[in-house]
Amino acid sequence: MADNNIFRLENVKVWFPVQKGFFKKTVGHVKAVDDVTINVKRNETLGIVGESGCGKTTLGKAMMLLENPTGGDVYFNEDGTEKDITKFSKEERFEFRKKVQMIFQDPYSALNPMKKIYTEMEEPLLIHGYKDKAEREYMMEQALKLVNIPVDYLFKYPHEFSGGQRQRVCIARAMEINPKVLVCDEAVSALDVSIQAQVLNLMKDIQQERDLTYVFIAHDLSVVQYMSDRILVMYLGKAVEMADSIELYANTKHPYTVSLLSAIPVPVLDRDKKRIILKGDVPSPINKPAGCPFHERCDRCMERCKTEEPQLKDVGNGHFVACHLYE
Ligand code: SF4
Repeated sequence: MADNNIFRLENVKVWFPVQKGFFKKTVGHVKAVDDVTINVKRNETLGIVGESGCGKTTLGKAMMLLENPTGGDVYFNEDGTEKDITKFSKEERFEFRKKVQMIFQDPYSALNPMKKIYTEMEEPLLIHGYKDKAEREYMMEQALKLVNIPVDYLFKYPHEFSGGQRQRVCIARAMEINPKVLVCDEAVSALDVSIQAQVLNLMKDIQQERDLTYVFIAHDLSVVQYMSDRILVMYLGKAVEMADSIELYANTKHPYTVSLLSAIPVPVLDRDKKRIILKGDVPSPINKPAGCPFHERCDRCMERCKTEEPQLKDVGNGHFVACHLYE
């Protein structure tokens, strides 16, 4: 089982201190990711969904060591041996970063308007120690071909590209050093719908060609459904449901996921489909409610939900849910 996982996260926490006063005394913590235990299988796309502030981006960053976990372990298994990346030395971290790359939401700010694409794409190769210019140019050209951008575009500036082309350049830049995992943080959210489809299909092709694993973070549930093999739903820094994509949409269990999915617009008027509007706001991640983090907004809340926190448990079919209704 462990061999099939490229990532395994155990009780991962990413807490940010809240400091006050002249002496910057720590008076609390923003619990962005709070005790998350999940796995990412090799060559799959794991979609991560949830409202803004649920911790999905921070979790992605923890997998890349862009945020250092406050607690827990993050195991990476590239070649059959699991290694805890939180215990990596500086040199090991540097090597690890070649294997896991990130694509950001906004292709407009991800590329420096003052630099040609050549410079943008050459920088990571120089940082990672590719000293031979001919080799660097070969790698850049191969990466651009992968995303269907003509090689002579290397000498253009970002403003000469459309939004879709810029995002494809960002994908090429992430792919040029042959990573094993791409963490895609809202990678198509800033693009027009028609361009989104092109970029998503391109990403699927690249995944097959290069045996890649994707961690696909998004708030658009239709996009996540299209891309993902499995989906993790997060609420207030917690993993509340995780299942195979088809299973999750057909057999939704957690009341929060039910309300999220009810918000997906459908092309055909379905009179039986009722949109569930959640009451209240998401509680503060500094002062989380006791018991189930969702209990203040859940219409199926029971007495024990107010005091006892449900744990993520397998309820069959590889479907995990953290809810007292399924115990
Ligand atoms: Fe609702 Fe209770 Fe389940 Fe939480 S544990 S989602 S409050 S039913």
